[in-house]
Amino acid sequence: MARSSGHRPMLEVKDVSLAYSTGKLFTRRKERVLAVDNVSLHVMPGEALGIVGESGSGKSSLAKIVMGLETPSAGSVDFLGTDLLKVKGAERRRLGARLQMVFQDPYSSLNPKMTLKQLVTEPLVVHGLARRDELEQRCRDLLEKVSLDPEWGDRYPGALSGGQRQRVAIARALASSPDLIVCDEPVSALDASIRAQVLNVLVDMQRDHGVGTLFIAHDLAIVRHVCDRVAVMHRGRVVEVLDAADIPERVQHPYTKALLEANPSPLRKKDTEDAGP
Ligand code: ADP
Ligand code: MG
Repeated sequence: MARSSGHRPMLEVKDVSLAYSTGKLFTRRKERVLAVDNVSLHVMPGEALGIVGESGSGKSSLAKIVMGLETPSAGSVDFLGTDLLKVKGAERRRLGARLQMVFQDPYSSLNPKMTLKQLVTEPLVVHGLARRDELEQRCRDLLEKVSLDPEWGDRYPGALSGGQRQRVAIARALASSPDLIVCDEPVSALDASIRAQVLNVLVDMQRDHGVGTLFIAHDLAIVRHVCDRVAVMHRGRVVEVLDAADIPERVQHPYTKALLEANPSPLRKKDTEDAGP
């Protein structure tokens, strides 16, 4: 699965920390939660980097920092040679088209009032990447890429299953031909029976489009199936980074070993339920 081309990371997160303060009612004390604690990692062009850790270990906070949805208290986020924390305006929007996200819950992440065509082509419209008269065909191509029926452009998300919705979210993320897609637990909200199918769409996406992926999950078995390298997070820190091929043999950190034992989850590769066309 190694697709790394080029020798410079496309994403480089350096010494990033993020603290939340949570004011408690009736007390003066402000509690500080250090959600991300001095994290450094990188993603090479076309590489899939997994981030794995239990709930509360800081994975989503890290994803939000990369997406510019949270501002870290320290550190830098370099994307395609530009510090994302410093850049603003048109340049930030231009980089925004190169950086897309797939969220955990496909029920809340897709506007129910928009058709599939409007949903998957919105990034093209927003970033001025296609003419109006091209959108129909682009929609068909994108739906096909995620193994959905290209005739479904006029449907609404309400008519789709969770797995189909998540594939719409992936098609939408692919629309602007981004360099990096951040997937935050993209299959955690789905029935176990359709997870493999959505994961396979993600693997195809990496292979066919050379898109880099930051793949977040709490299940190490899933992450090593989809990723080239895996960073293990524990209490806001990255405790270990491994080549996926070296798992389980070269696992060092006791926390990673515990994760391995906790999640033997066998993946079903072929699935016929929830099929598209
Ligand atoms: P994960 O995605 O690995 O489950 P998160 O990044 O969501 O972890 O959370 C890391 C820590 O930060 C947790 O202790 C969580 O309770 C806390 N946290 C996350 N978001 C907020 C917030 N908006 N305000 C306060 N604390 C938060
Ligand atoms: Mg999370």
